[in-house]
Amino acid sequence: MSHIKNVAIVGGTHGNEVTGPYLLRRWQLRPEEIKRPSFSTRLCLGNPKAFKENRRFVDEDLNRCFAGDSLQSRDSPSYEAARASVLNYEIGPKGSSKYDFVIDIHTSTSNCGAMLVLTGDDVFSIRLAAYIQGKIPETRIHYIPSGDGDPPFLGSLVSRSLGVETGPIPQGVLRYDIFELTRRVVLSALDFAHNHNSGLQLDLPKELTVFKMHQRLKYPMEEGYLAAMIHESLQGRDYEPLNPGDPLFRCLDGSLLSYEGARIVYPVFINEAAYYREQLAMVLTTKETLSVPGADAADA
Ligand SMILES: [Zn+2]
Repeated sequence: MSHIKNVAIVGGTHGNEVTGPYLLRRWQLRPEEIKRPSFSTRLCLGNPKAFKENRRFVDEDLNRCFAGDSLQSRDSPSYEAARASVLNYEIGPKGSSKYDFVIDIHTSTSNCGAMLVLTGDDVFSIRLAAYIQGKIPETRIHYIPSGDGDPPFLGSLVSRSLGVETGPIPQGVLRYDIFELTRRVVLSALDFAHNHNSGLQLDLPKELTVFKMHQRLKYPMEEGYLAAMIHESLQGRDYEPLNPGDPLFRCLDGSLLSYEGARIVYPVFINEAAYYREQLAMVLTTKETLSVPGADAADA
């Protein structure tokens, strides 16, 4: 597999997820912590204006602005579309990027713990996730196959990417435990990239459990209002099985709505604050096992 020469660490893609920007600040003050002998590392504040204003975004979600056609110049781009073009210039361009690996730092109000978001099941991604989970056992892996389309996410600017989500933490809030957990995940990812370059033999497990994206589940709505909230027995139970018939929502009058799907699913991003504007209650996943390839395995 090809060598990694340039790594970008991005924080503040969503301006009110402030752990990322403060980690960047930490590493500006302590650059030796992110230095590895085999590649260079660049720090990048994703959405400076939204961070300053403590908002997720100014005009539109930056992390939906990286599809190829969105990156073409527009006459009067939104702030985020313009920002996406700058990032495409600095760490892209998409399809032939100067950077080999990007780590995009996010936080969540859901009980996601340390979540690695993978969009590829290539050799590098699977081995990276297995390595980090070996170092930080509470890590969980959310696998979102990107398919053949043109994904709009920041990570799609370069060929290898890792999304890091930590929580639960409110928007706009710093907490040392979450800061430290995120820091350890990112440093582990850098260690893995350096080991990858060095050809070091790693003792990785044979299999990796992933929570594979299955369905986005919306709130029931009534006259423009949510008709229900997350059932109290489901709150905070990310990655735990939800069986057909289990309580799902509690209506405003106290009555109960059950999960009516046909199979056991594993909800994540339960009650994520940023998803309210899309009336999204959670993301349902299926629990799957991927085999962990050897370092010498050919990329598909
Ligand atoms: Zn985010």
